Amino acid sequence: MNSNNIIRHNSCIQRVDRNRLNNHKSGLVWFTGLSASGKSTIAHSVEKELFHKSIRTYVLDGDNVRHGLNSNLGFSREDRKENLRRIAELSKLFVDAGILVIAAFISPYREDREYIRKCFEGDNFLEIYVKCSVEECERRDPKGQYKKARAGIIKEYTGISAPYEEPDTPDLIIDTEKMSIEDSVKSIIRFLSEKHFM
Ligand code: ADP
Repeated sequence: MNSNNIIRHNSCIQRVDRNRLNNHKSGLVWFTGLSASGKSTIAHSVEKELFHKSIRTYVLDGDNVRHGLNSNLGFSREDRKENLRRIAELSKLFVDAGILVIAAFISPYREDREYIRKCFEGDNFLEIYVKCSVEECERRDPKGQYKKARAGIIKEYTGISAPYEEPDTPDLIIDTEKMSIEDSVKSIIRFLSEKHFM
């Protein structure tokens, strides 16, 4: 934990140059919501649409990041915090590299989401709440995890045995109990366009 003797090296090519080369802004679009609310499904469909519009994007997805960079972290309060701190740092690098990052993480605690927002204050950050009731998520249960959580096999499962704090003022709400996947994607693309990402 000693970074006292480390001095930053400034790159000659800056983010603004990469944005100009790509012909679009970079930024972070943060999806929060319960497991099975539809974050990954929608994030990847949005990415596909953006790719076809020549926007450079990348999806950072909870499960994938936990297999690699964050494989040493669990689901305690402290580990969830560290999980998101690392993802914030990773996102900063991607955004600096000119990418429109779509991050799909349950991110159940307001405090942690506020931390992410602060890291990107005033800097092309959008929070999208992928809204869906626990009952519906449990009915979908694509990975069988709610069943395991109910049986006590998985501990500290968000929505069952760990809290999910709904966002107070997200930039956009996508209610996947009311909207189809296709309409959700369209709505997000329209929203990103209004925010001048394309
Ligand atoms: P999360 O990333 O939030 O855990 P996933 O995208 O992995 O959620 O899973 C959501 C599941 O719900 C998928 O199996 C998807 O096909 C299904 N689903 C049903 N209706 C919708 C909808 N309107 N929007 C998004 N996903 C939906």
